[in-house]
Amino acid sequence: MKDSSKKKCRCCLKAKPLEQFHRLAGTAAIHPFCRPCLGATVRRRTALRGSQRTLNTRGCAQCGQDLPLQMFHWLRASGSFHSYCRPCHAAYMADRYRRLQGGRKRG
Ligand SMILES: [Zn+2]
Ligand SMILES: [Zn+2]
Repeated sequence: MKDSSKKKCRCCLKAKPLEQFHRLAGTAAIHPFCRPCLGATVRRRTALRGSQRTLNTRGCAQCGQDLPLQMFHWLRASGSFHSYCRPCHAAYMADRYRRLQGGRKRG
């Protein structure tokens, strides 16, 4: 039996209640990392900062976390990083896709 009120975190692979996940603003999508994992990603990077000073982070426009640049898609066309982190972007695209599928040829 599926428990739809829980979601499996893509980082720690544990099923957690939905309120443990960051909901993406303006969409029905939910961040694939649970809140503790999202925070841990940042803390891990911060701990590394001593040995790797060149490591840059960027604030995600969706979940608001400061994440390492490798967590963002590089947009070659605009020569900059995407304003959403990869998980947020993936969740956003999945939500958009669902909406396109569901709302096609309506209204
Ligand atoms: Zn997690
Ligand atoms: Zn994000």
